[in-house]
Amino acid sequence: MTIRADTTVFSARTLSEWVRDARRCTFELVADLTDEQMIGPLLPIINPLLWEIGHVAWFQEKWVLRHALGREPIRPDADALWDSIAIPHDERWRLPLPSREQTLAYMREVRDRVLEVLERSELTPELAYFVCLSVFHEDMHTEAITYTRQTLGYPPPKLSLVVGTSAISAEGGPLPGDVEIPGGTFWLGATPDEPFVFDNEKWAHPVSVRPFVMARAPVTQAEFAAFVDDGGYRRREWWSEAGWQWRERVGAEHPVYWRREAPGRWWRRHFDQWVPLEPHRPVIHVNWYEAEAYCRWAGRRLPTEWEWEVAAAGEPDASGARLAERKRRFPWGDEPPTPERANLDWRAMGCVDVGALAAGESAFGCRQMIGNVWEWTSSDFLPYPGFTPDPYKEYSQPWFGDHKVLRGGCWVTRGRLLRNTWRNFYRPDRRDVWAGFRTCALSR
Ligand code: FE
Repeated sequence: MTIRADTTVFSARTLSEWVRDARRCTFELVADLTDEQMIGPLLPIINPLLWEIGHVAWFQEKWVLRHALGREPIRPDADALWDSIAIPHDERWRLPLPSREQTLAYMREVRDRVLEVLERSELTPELAYFVCLSVFHEDMHTEAITYTRQTLGYPPPKLSLVVGTSAISAEGGPLPGDVEIPGGTFWLGATPDEPFVFDNEKWAHPVSVRPFVMARAPVTQAEFAAFVDDGGYRRREWWSEAGWQWRERVGAEHPVYWRREAPGRWWRRHFDQWVPLEPHRPVIHVNWYEAEAYCRWAGRRLPTEWEWEVAAAGEPDASGARLAERKRRFPWGDEPPTPERANLDWRAMGCVDVGALAAGESAFGCRQMIGNVWEWTSSDFLPYPGFTPDPYKEYSQPWFGDHKVLRGGCWVTRGRLLRNTWRNFYRPDRRDVWAGFRTCALSR
């Protein structure tokens, strides 16, 4: 199949708005930082922000202007500066990067040339694909820039997107309990009518799913604190071999941004501020090993990625005993996310209670499957049957096998990026990302 995006969904006008909006967010996410903060310490989990903002513009130039339209590079040194495939990670701190002003000028130049193309040229499905790709890539980096600010203890970003929008309430309390989800044949993955799709979602294929029992909500901070206070990080029996090795190597005694104020009283760091645990909000910044250990302690397990997708996208048939054939694009139906349904787009500048946003429930009564917190699944990130890489070959293929799948998006993720079939993937030791988890009952 050729590379294309649906231009009835992604019109030139919509794409122009997104190109502007994504770039504005990138600018705003770093606008208050000093030049020193724009470089920051060399850590394997982040990029120097001055490099990262140039890289998103370079990616857009490479795929939209150079690849799709055959234009010459704007800067002859651009590949040597910002090509993330060619430049080893640690090298990014040692590059002769242009100044901040020059980098911002390049970012505006690329944006304006793309906007001019959208205004003047015919929008082909292929061009629409590459513009979408560049916007969604930038969206992933604006999420990464936000967690970099958390990692480095910078203040929360100030975004005009958030200012003036009606703030969503973080209240909602806990949402205990499980739902029973029927089994049947489920078509895992995206269908060809999806207007834009990443290679790792292709294509929907039948999987046989047994009935399972899943929590209505992700694990909360209070629930995770009970595990920590029960000596969860000290007791070998809750941890897998690989998990225990990780725990010993980094000396983990509790989630990375937690601090014990007094016995049983925890605080956590949110950007540059310490706050008492919010008991009914989901635990966040825990890695796959920590999620796995919690599950063993609680007598639970992580869902597989197809169970997660069934819970989010599936519907019961008329009898209620089997899965229906129909699949929803989002937990609540096919309409795009709204503030009443999902906590996305930095709107709450943090997580909300797991009991909030009742309007976003799935057909089976699982809440907040889209937004708030990424959810680890038990599954390795692997290609679906018949996988072939799309033109951006390094998006998925290099990461198959040693990453775990996460689903659903978090409070930072852009709503335009997500759908039920969207697969995210991180190494199991990453706890700097916006990840939590939801559990399933052990099979009876
Ligand atoms: Fe990138």
